[in-house]
Amino acid sequence: MIFDNTQKAYHLKSDKELCKAYYLFRLISQQSLVSIGSYFAKIALKLKLPVAPIFKATVFSQFCAGIDKEEALVLVKKLEDSKIQSYLHFAAEESETEKGMDISLIKILETLSFSKDTPCLSFTGFKATALGSMSLFEKRSAKINFTKTEEKAWKRLLNRIHTCCQNARAIGVSILIDAEESWLQNAIDEIAESLMEKYNKEIPIVYTTIQMYRKDRLDYLKGLHEKAINKSYKIGVKLVRGAYTEKENLKAYKLGITSPICDSKELTDTNFNNGLDFVLDHLKDISLFLGSHNESSSLRVVNWMTENKVTKDHPHIWFSQLFGMADHISFNLAAEGYSVVKYLPYGPVNQVVPYLIRRAEENTSVSGQTPRELSLIKKELRRRKVKVF
Ligand SMILES: Cc1cc2nc3c(=O)[nH]c(=O)nc-3n(C[C@H](O)[C@H](O)[C@H](O)COP(=O)(O)OP(=O)(O)OC[C@H]3O[C@@H](n4cnc5c(N)ncnc54)[C@H](O)[C@@H]3O)c2cc1C
Repeated sequence: MIFDNTQKAYHLKSDKELCKAYYLFRLISQQSLVSIGSYFAKIALKLKLPVAPIFKATVFSQFCAGIDKEEALVLVKKLEDSKIQSYLHFAAEESETEKGMDISLIKILETLSFSKDTPCLSFTGFKATALGSMSLFEKRSAKINFTKTEEKAWKRLLNRIHTCCQNARAIGVSILIDAEESWLQNAIDEIAESLMEKYNKEIPIVYTTIQMYRKDRLDYLKGLHEKAINKSYKIGVKLVRGAYTEKENLKAYKLGITSPICDSKELTDTNFNNGLDFVLDHLKDISLFLGSHNESSSLRVVNWMTENKVTKDHPHIWFSQLFGMADHISFNLAAEGYSVVKYLPYGPVNQVVPYLIRRAEENTSVSGQTPRELSLIKKELRRRKVKVF
């Protein structure tokens, strides 16, 4: 029942904005349209054709906080008024060049610097592959030795990451490291663990991400907990189901190996619940950042907190959803006093187009996600007596 209040969920949206969201999700619900649209948008991007205005007029305002700091901070303030914290991310796509990686670092530090004057920006984050080359992550994950040049590039990557963490610690902001494809993840885990050992002695500054759609992740989580106890550090965990199901299954199929991903959505849900229960049972040592749009998962945590008389603003429990999605979870939880962080990507339209394409694709491929958004928006439009076709 806690998530039923659509008036609270959409109170920041005008009738016009809500209608726009309705038509947008209706478009996104058509898989063939999204596939064709994404295909042409990717080609247009490669050819440097001016597709930005199309995105600006459609998906941008639904899924992005703005084109720059000023626009993004206006939204941050509105969310703060609704007791929601924000997690800003400059969403330009990573580059494979050293110069591009240095620019990514500058953008992360710039975003981090906004937190100095804005206390409701208590998290920031990065994709490790935005700061170092994919091929390095792949080689390291597969335990293939680096060449001398690669060794140097790896050190530069580690320096960039440490710079992010040192800056975050200096201003008291926690930093989330995204989880990526399984063939890159061993290297990301290695880095995340060493960062937690260094920066999380007292409180969790660094959060790793664990994708519970992977069959091996519950054991990984338990092993990580043992390591942290032995080495006396705190764990920060962004717990997610995982975003690369199709890519992972396709790669495993092509290589003729068993997919690392659970064989069904139900098995992913069971694994996710087991991971969630493990984290909650060890809340003294682990901080939870629940990255999910799933009502049952959020409710599982809420019920556990009630049963265990844990305060709603417990510093080790955070609920998080992407901007433009699952507002019924974010706004209703925040109104009840739970700690909620909205993930807010921002950046110039032409640079965030790849992120927007991914949003449209994910909304189409994750079954149930778009119908759920549509039915909630429809419910609110009915309540406001606004007609749509
Ligand atoms: C704040 C935030 C941060 C995130 N950060 C990351 C990140 O760093 N890395 C990352 O990979 N993802 C990340 N995600 C995305 C996340 O992993 C999920 O893809 C997305 O949230 C949908 O899952 P759900 O729990 O919200 O809900 P649901 O809609 O209940 O679950 C959908 C998910 O279930 C799984 N699934 C669906 N069908 C199947 C199937 N047939 N077999 C097995 N599993 C299946 C997939 O993981 C799918 O994404 C993040 C999400 C949020 C909200």
